[in-house]
Amino acid sequence: MKIVDSHCHLDFDPLSSDINNVFKRARDVGVARLINVGASLRGSRASVEMANIYPNVWASVGFHPHEAETMLDIDNKIEEIETLSWDEKVIAIGEIGLDYYDPERPITLDQKKKQKELFTKQLELSQKLKLPLIIHVRDAWDDFFSIIQNSKFETQNSSAAQGVVHCFTGSEKEAKKILDLGFFLGFTGLITFDQPKFNHIRRALKIVPLDRILVETDAPFLAPEPFRGKTNEPAYVLEVIKKIAKIKSISIEEVVENTTKNVEKLFNIR
Ligand SMILES: [Zn+2]
Ligand SMILES: [Zn+2]
Repeated sequence: MKIVDSHCHLDFDPLSSDINNVFKRARDVGVARLINVGASLRGSRASVEMANIYPNVWASVGFHPHEAETMLDIDNKIEEIETLSWDEKVIAIGEIGLDYYDPERPITLDQKKKQKELFTKQLELSQKLKLPLIIHVRDAWDDFFSIIQNSKFETQNSSAAQGVVHCFTGSEKEAKKILDLGFFLGFTGLITFDQPKFNHIRRALKIVPLDRILVETDAPFLAPEPFRGKTNEPAYVLEVIKKIAKIKSISIEEVVENTTKNVEKLFNIR
């Protein structure tokens, strides 16, 4: 099997300090390639470095919405991302987007404004560079759809979608809108969690065609069952694949074949 973990952060501890074993365990279950996703300037640099050391690793570069609040000199920071993107192993801008989830207190209008500005500027960068997007959206669907629909966002060519909404957490309604926009949807260990509060994600998965699904771990976060609560790692993407196969009543091989083809098409990697 030639599985791709389309979204992980191997530069985070404790994965970075155990990288060779992490790769070995991934290879042992058939994970042939990985995309290491940048979420900050430090993470984006680390992703590019890692992709240049390991032939089976590709990189994305960008600022996660959580970076927005403390970011000064946003245009300069985005220029640094642009410079990093020139590396030939960089295949996407991401992860970028909106995240209004805060268990402590409601997010302020000013925080939302900063996130929207950072997101919009990075959308423009991706258009300029003609690179696909890795998008993070949490509790911010309305603003996400309005920014995407109002931006001068163009499909790069009619046969290729322009990005992935990673770690999909929405319901059928959002899934349909994302499909209409031409994006892929990335599914994580969340679909393996038993509680009813994750049922809506499983229901959404049912209506997403196989040619629009990517699989990912988002390691070191969100380890799927039966590893829930542990450090996630690329080898565990197999649990996500098994769950998709079960929900869609198809074989594991069929999930792997399709999701790998989707990664190759979206990010133009072979
Ligand atoms: Zn994310
Ligand atoms: Zn991530």
